[in-house]
Amino acid sequence: MRLQKCGQCNKRFKWAQISKSLLFSYKPITCSHCGADYKITFSSRTISAILFTLIVLIVPFAREQELSIPFVILVIFIYYVLLLSMILPYIVKYEIQHSMIKSKR
Ligand SMILES: [Zn+2]
Repeated sequence: MRLQKCGQCNKRFKWAQISKSLLFSYKPITCSHCGADYKITFSSRTISAILFTLIVLIVPFAREQELSIPFVILVIFIYYVLLLSMILPYIVKYEIQHSMIKSKR
């Protein structure tokens, strides 16, 4: 899986741009090459919200298995780190914000 490219200049977004965007509640991304602004698509937002909340399923499982609380917290922490660094940057999609394109003269 590859990171998304800019639709205008074909430059690939940087991993850090996307993970930072996800970390700061889906902050818009600006292409470092052509300056086009991108915002996350509604479906990507929905998918990431689902993935962020999915981890709560560990709670009934942890109770049943009598897992210790520090262990469960560690698992949740690792899940979020993996989600934000390895998974979401590769599956979320951004769409160009046409109203934000500055006309070049
Ligand atoms: Zn660009």
